[in-house]
Amino acid sequence: MSDTSLYIHIPYCKSKCGYCDFCSSPDLSTVDNYVSGLIRRIKAYKTDKTVKSVYFGGGTPTYIGAKRLCEILQVIKDNYNIPDDCEMTAEANPGTIDLNGLELMKKAGFNRLSAGIQTAVDIELKALGRVSHTVSDGAALVRYARAAGFDNVSLDLMYGIPLQTADSLKQSLDFVLSQKPEHISAYALKLEENTPLYKKKPALPDDDTVADMYALINKTLKDNGYNRYEISNFAKPGHESRHNLRYWQGGDYIGIGVSAASLIGNVRYLQSPDMKAFLDGKAPDTVETLDEKGREEEYIMLHLRLSSGIDKKEYNEKFKTDFDEKYKMQIKKFVAGNFAVDTKERFYLTDNGVFVSNAVIAEFI
Ligand code: SF4
Repeated sequence: MSDTSLYIHIPYCKSKCGYCDFCSSPDLSTVDNYVSGLIRRIKAYKTDKTVKSVYFGGGTPTYIGAKRLCEILQVIKDNYNIPDDCEMTAEANPGTIDLNGLELMKKAGFNRLSAGIQTAVDIELKALGRVSHTVSDGAALVRYARAAGFDNVSLDLMYGIPLQTADSLKQSLDFVLSQKPEHISAYALKLEENTPLYKKKPALPDDDTVADMYALINKTLKDNGYNRYEISNFAKPGHESRHNLRYWQGGDYIGIGVSAASLIGNVRYLQSPDMKAFLDGKAPDTVETLDEKGREEEYIMLHLRLSSGIDKKEYNEKFKTDFDEKYKMQIKKFVAGNFAVDTKERFYLTDNGVFVSNAVIAEFI
């Protein structure tokens, strides 16, 4: 493939959320050395490929300040082939950046902001151990983003969280919709071991309630003009995240920073989360070379998460096998159960299928 995408990991956050197992820390003492380490690697991994999207994730990129982010972006622009329409996203969290900072970022070339709002109920933020911002900080962040000229804003919403009810989720949905984002990601809380929230063992909505919550999100966003293009992602037409689509479509990407993953051809690389090793110059490890079977399984798994599903012509050409023939049992079973739609060109999950997507996918791989 002649193009790629860049992911830059910024492992700093204002405070550590109770449910978080991402590679992030509030300790900024390493930040300048870290930025130097990123810049060195950005130059070292230089490629002639066209970079279709650049994504600064974390952590909270905006926590290290607009100046540093703009400096890193400039190095990317100086060293890579960046087309005018390259999608350049930064994740942002409320209470970590002001209007002035966002104006700097917009001017530097960032054209998409992804903000972690999560819920519009302050006691739910607290119950999540997300204590670095309030709901009104979230509204202020979106206001600043618009004032700075960002016309592509994504908001994150969480469901299945402590204290949440159908009514409070409606309140969060109303709030998110009132901000008129172009894109919304909605993720169910997953309690990861070794997080403070896991150890607290909070009361959580049961599985049926969580499924109803997802159904409510799905319907509300659809009714408001958002297309679900991936299980957890909804967009106004034309505002699907190009960067995330690349992951789901199995395209190449280069990840730089602690814990960042890359996929180049059939080879997957992973930088360890060890900050000291990163600062000492450690290179990413090769973690997996996908064989044909692995590549095919991954293709099916990722594409069944997309509302466009499996493009049979593409699949047949890529894997030199006939999708209809190979999976005739599964196709028959899931279409009969109203879990999937099978056309001449595509095979994709229905809303019913999406609710049980893991079980459906398991029968294919
Ligand atoms: S803002 Fe995100 S990355 Fe940072 S601690 Fe919270 S959940 Fe983790």
